[in-house]
Amino acid sequence: MMEKKIRVRFAPSPTGYLHLGNARTALFNWLFARKYRGRFILRIEDTDQERANPAFEKSLIEDLRWLGLHWDEGPQLGGDFAPYRQSQRRHYYLEAARKLLDEGKAYFCYCSGEELQAQRQRLLFAGRPPRYPGSCRRLSERQKRSYEKEGRKPSIRFKVQARQTIVVEDLLRGPVEVSPRDLGDFIIVRSNQVAAYNLAVVVDDALMKITHVIRGEDHLPNTPRQQLLYQALGYEPPHFVHLPMILGEDRSMLSKRHGARSLSRFRREGYLPQALVNYLALLGWSSGDGREIFSPEELVEAFSLSRLAKSAAVFDPRKLNWLNAHYLREMEIARLTPHCLPFLQEAGLLPEPPCAERLHWLQKVIDSVRPNLTRLADLPGCVQVYFRDDFSLCPRARRIAKEGKEVIEELAVKLENAPFDSLGEMEYEELMQQLKQATGLRGKRLFMPVRAALSGSLQGPELRHLFVLLGKEGCLRRIRNTLKALLAE
Ligand code: GLU
Repeated sequence: MMEKKIRVRFAPSPTGYLHLGNARTALFNWLFARKYRGRFILRIEDTDQERANPAFEKSLIEDLRWLGLHWDEGPQLGGDFAPYRQSQRRHYYLEAARKLLDEGKAYFCYCSGEELQAQRQRLLFAGRPPRYPGSCRRLSERQKRSYEKEGRKPSIRFKVQARQTIVVEDLLRGPVEVSPRDLGDFIIVRSNQVAAYNLAVVVDDALMKITHVIRGEDHLPNTPRQQLLYQALGYEPPHFVHLPMILGEDRSMLSKRHGARSLSRFRREGYLPQALVNYLALLGWSSGDGREIFSPEELVEAFSLSRLAKSAAVFDPRKLNWLNAHYLREMEIARLTPHCLPFLQEAGLLPEPPCAERLHWLQKVIDSVRPNLTRLADLPGCVQVYFRDDFSLCPRARRIAKEGKEVIEELAVKLENAPFDSLGEMEYEELMQQLKQATGLRGKRLFMPVRAALSGSLQGPELRHLFVLLGKEGCLRRIRNTLKALLAE
């Protein structure tokens, strides 16, 4: 028998930003599709017209692209099952609802919001589950006409059979049995003719030939209803995987309080997409061999549904920072630099797009500070020493420069008379050697005044980086400025 081609989807509602939870859902779907050479589909579930916002859709799409989770079919891209936006697929849902009505599997419900609310209260008061009691199940044609005359707009409800056992086969947790009594007849089309989530999702997943529905555990209560709709509409249900939740460190639901933020915030704070993808993968999946660092390609290779965790994952910001620092340190500098430029621009350190020579210099600058970085938001602070010739010395640096004035003067002479124009690492070593001999000083007493003179501070990148990246002229300019400032006291 021919294996069915794997088709999975990520189906966000554009009612909010991409956050850790739904980004992880997207990632696991993407990994599964790539691993088995299947298709990864993006479907925008924008049926909630009051809350859906095109700005959220745009931002979700941007963030997915930034993470590198590219899809094979989707709203702008198209595909064999277009359109991929639910607001453009209404006719499919209404057609399915019509079929269910015709077959007696669904019915019109004329109850108003207030009536439903009152029914709910009564049931709760009687200590019973607040399920819809089926008031409109057996309305006569006359009753229907009279409601319609009153101007009531009906919704459509699915008829849940009392004697049906519902079993949801979840690949992660095995069969989950649900009693129909726990469901009640549920709405499939609202009174404004808009399909409810449960109907729209089933129709779309079936028509789009989705083979595996991988989504958050928060959707588990919906799945039995969806299962009933698959049966009633004669569709073959997909395999379900409900991913355990992500919790904060205090094991409560992840919220802003735990530092959970939108993916775009992580991006603005200077997390790398590679670090986030790696981190998200570890939130609910493990390779089983203790490995924690994975490139996206390695994740695709190692990923399997059987290694998903069954219990909740805990968001640990320190681990994310650790991974981010790792990628900042290890990534090829040419790949890292484009991620850095927006941060330098934002800080006013890049007034214009860099030419090739400047870019090369910037790469070296970034390379010199990256061992100390956790997030790119800290980059401008770390590199600004390279950009500002007109610094003023901080009080401690001023004291050290004063005490070591002779070292600085000697360095100025040595640099002025240096036989080289471009200052590389070898020239730097040679220069410091000579300075050591001429002054008879070494260690901090030699290096600190030099650092103070070159940067106005006692901290910062290694001296050799400062020398090489400022160049002979840059160093001389700064040393002269410092000596002038000391003289002016
Ligand atoms: N649109 C739903 C959401 O954003 C997802 C539905 C699904 O994956 O079945 O939560």
